[in-house]
Amino acid sequence: MSIVEVFDTTLRDGLQVEGVSASVQDKLRIAEQLDHLGVHYIEGGWPGANPKDIEFFRRAGSELQLTTSTLVAFGSTRRPRGRVDDDATLRNLVEAGTSAVCIVAKSSEYQVVEALRSTLDEGAAMIADSVEFLRGAGRMVLVDLEHFFDGYRENPEFSLRAIEAAVVNGASHLVLCDTNGGTLPDEVGRIVADVKSHVRDDAIIGIHCHDDSGCAVANTMVAVVSGARHVQGTLNGLGERTGNTNLTTAIPNLQLKLGYECLPEGRLERLTAVSHHVAETLNRAVDPQAPYVGSSAFAHKAGLHVSAIVRAKDAYEHVNPELVGNGTRFVVSEMAGRATIEMKAAELGIEIDGATVNQIIDDLKRLEHEGYHFEAADASLELLMRRAAGVVPEFFRVESMRVITDELPDGAFNTEATVKVWVGDDENAERHVYVAEGNGPVNAIDTALRKAVGRALPRLADIHLTDFKVRILDGGSATGATTRVLLSATDGERDWTTIGVSPNIIEASWRALEDSLVYGLLHPRD
Ligand SMILES: [Zn+2]
Repeated sequence: MSIVEVFDTTLRDGLQVEGVSASVQDKLRIAEQLDHLGVHYIEGGWPGANPKDIEFFRRAGSELQLTTSTLVAFGSTRRPRGRVDDDATLRNLVEAGTSAVCIVAKSSEYQVVEALRSTLDEGAAMIADSVEFLRGAGRMVLVDLEHFFDGYRENPEFSLRAIEAAVVNGASHLVLCDTNGGTLPDEVGRIVADVKSHVRDDAIIGIHCHDDSGCAVANTMVAVVSGARHVQGTLNGLGERTGNTNLTTAIPNLQLKLGYECLPEGRLERLTAVSHHVAETLNRAVDPQAPYVGSSAFAHKAGLHVSAIVRAKDAYEHVNPELVGNGTRFVVSEMAGRATIEMKAAELGIEIDGATVNQIIDDLKRLEHEGYHFEAADASLELLMRRAAGVVPEFFRVESMRVITDELPDGAFNTEATVKVWVGDDENAERHVYVAEGNGPVNAIDTALRKAVGRALPRLADIHLTDFKVRILDGGSATGATTRVLLSATDGERDWTTIGVSPNIIEASWRALEDSLVYGLLHPRD
């Protein structure tokens, strides 16, 4: 099987995404996950650009034990009209202490002449000198050829000259970048094939795409088909603007559909867990509809074809979800018949008899009539089914709770919750009473409950609430309306959603919160 190298840039290009910031600690944890997945290269950051990245590389040297991946420091070629031996960027790159470095180089006439206000001769010399310098320092050198496709369209001679300057000085990789993300697959395929016919086996051709036309993954695939053997991208497609090539899509496409080896044997099934783990670290949930790793990626809505799916799953799934560590999921609603409930039970590993199936169908109909919507709340559905089957342990039992919100003289609001709760078996049950403040009623109840039962149930500390959505169902009755609360939570490995419905928003929130914690306790992390 032919190898296609995977170069992950989540920690450099990926962190350009708006609204995400990662501490050095977060970056180290993500690097461990990437190594666990088995990518060839992890681009850790730009040590010249900020002190955080300098610290990252310093700590990586002692704290990271990478077993499959090579850590790469990122930088740029020397400045125009500058010298390599007094260039701060190049010095920082060498001082990062990685065996491989990746430098960004200008390979388009427009960029050299207009953006740098320099000449084409100097543009080529910047690449040649920088690669020679870094090779002299004993580094493997990958060259990211910025704006390559745009430049090639205008002046292919200069773009090829940039490539030659890198290759003759010992660059191992020529990474063709669609920096503005506007190139379409047919053109990417044509240009990569052209470059391949010039470079042949003198260096590995890589591809680095941005998703501004929605084609980053497609462009990556066509580049590989045309001769690239190195793909750059980020987990979950993170990146500035519309993001980078989504490796969680590109890797299984290349491996399962085109037969390239991207990850070592046995690693592809870690993809879904690693994708969710990284999303959790960056506090940015995985899109439920993400191919391969999304929670809906292999979800089937109950309907006519449900019994057909059971007979022949592959008739309705483009790949076996287990190959990427995901699973088939049956989405159940009040429309569900017996077959769907039985399948869902089998999926969850719950044994149910005929009477229990009827009970579940009755419960679903009644609750959906009240405003519950289980399609969006798989964890609450599972608990409903387990409760009907009588197999949910009582982790804790709430005797009462009270929430008070005061407006203080300075106009600020103060919320306090008191929770009285029993933990343990009937005869040994212990009563705990705790009071906590919060920034709102749900937060205050959550905090008080965790304080009350946290010592007896330490696993609660792994459960984090990630999203809280409130919807008013019968808007016509205004403040008397029914409220539906959807609460999402994670333990860093799995994500789940629960639901609560009530005319009282606090009750609705409490129902969703209780289910969320019980579900998390029922499924401890490995
Ligand atoms: Zn980029």
